[in-house]
Amino acid sequence: MMKRAYNFNAGPSALPYEVLEKAQQELVNFKDTGMSLMELSHRSKEYDQVHEKALLYLREIYQIPEDYEVLFLQGGASLQFAMIPLNFLASDKVGNYILTGAWSEKALKEAQKIGNSVSILSSKDTNYNFIPKSSELRPTENAAYVHLTSNNTIYGTQWHDFPELQSDIPLIADMSSDILSKEIDISKFAMIYAGAQKNLGPAGVTVAIIKKDMLANIPATIPTILNYQTHAKSNSLYNTPPTYSIYILSLVLEWVKNQGGLKVIEKRNAEKAGVLYNCIDQSNGFYTPHAQSDSRSHMNITFTLPSEELTKKFIAESKEQGFVGLAGHRSVGGCRASIYNAVPYESCEALVNFMEKFRINN
Ligand code: PMP
Repeated sequence: MMKRAYNFNAGPSALPYEVLEKAQQELVNFKDTGMSLMELSHRSKEYDQVHEKALLYLREIYQIPEDYEVLFLQGGASLQFAMIPLNFLASDKVGNYILTGAWSEKALKEAQKIGNSVSILSSKDTNYNFIPKSSELRPTENAAYVHLTSNNTIYGTQWHDFPELQSDIPLIADMSSDILSKEIDISKFAMIYAGAQKNLGPAGVTVAIIKKDMLANIPATIPTILNYQTHAKSNSLYNTPPTYSIYILSLVLEWVKNQGGLKVIEKRNAEKAGVLYNCIDQSNGFYTPHAQSDSRSHMNITFTLPSEELTKKFIAESKEQGFVGLAGHRSVGGCRASIYNAVPYESCEALVNFMEKFRINN
């Protein structure tokens, strides 16, 4: 394997090397068509096989029940912030949002432009350093749905147990930064969605998994392309889909299957996160974790250093050593290591070695 950066980018982020290699092999002549996949018609049989493979593999990996649609959309997770209330927030209902970070806030803000939407639980007061207890969840009367962000990319917190809602309230989750990172019982959710650019593939495609009964009462007045029914009815081929992103997604899904599926991926992610949190916890306070321990993310490890100066030095020296993407988001400060599925254990080990040396030297 050629030398690759230790890529800790928050998204777009590391892709599996095997996937990139396969894409490279197939780049200029996809399956003897004499052209790249990007040059093929989205109505061709060659593309159709890629499209179906991605849908099938996602269904297999997550064991998605038959009564769920799997959709490939565009516009990123951000468009879902608007599409969800447009499709599911009837005028006599209330969108219920759990705020665990900047992305949940954005989802709520967007919903408030469309209908009656409120925050029902939040950890904003402590700069989103924990996931609220499900037992404190009190949905409003006439809740259209409860929306949560399963992993908070910026703050480094993650839901480890999802709330159990009364059966008639749909639970909707933005899983942009932890989709495909662990096993999940899909049937607990009415909808799951994620922009692809962390664990699924390149930017450009957004995956939505939606329970079919949610599609029954969508108002016919919303624009055609924003209506989930449109995409469900046309097998996500209503208009030209982001074919290359879906192709890479199909390779990433194949990779996940070859690794042994989500059980194996989940265990590996826990080990990767474990070495990093261990390093932070054993640093005698040199590295301070942002997230409370029971809310720690296995995808984004956030921590601060004793001073702004040391943080700058840490980032600069880490860059010299080949580490990329370790600067934290400005709303938390400090550092963040994003260790999505494609980040190997060895990169985390290398980072821990660097962190220990840096601590001793400073
Ligand atoms: N939700 C979460 C949890 C995210 O991490 C991000 C992007 N980092 C978004 C939503 C926004 O996604 P997009 O850029 O695909 O619109």
